Amino acid sequence: MRVILDPQSCQAYGNCLLTAPDVFDLDEETGVAIILQERPPAELHAAVEEAVRSCPVQALTLED
Ligand code: SF4
Repeated sequence: MRVILDPQSCQAYGNCLLTAPDVFDLDEETGVAIILQERPPAELHAAVEEAVRSCPVQALTLED
């Protein structure tokens, strides 16, 4: 699994970091999400999938 963020779409709602705080954070300067683990370990996949679904602006996508 690879997590991809479109920083231009991110509106800093924060849903992703609330759902998967080990994988996402918010850059306080730019106000845009940052990905802490681009290839998260298997035990985090369910949380990451939930985080991707929770993004209101579809700024997150997953690749195999
Ligand atoms: S949920 Fe989407 S819009 Fe909100 S911070 Fe995460 S990537 Fe950005």
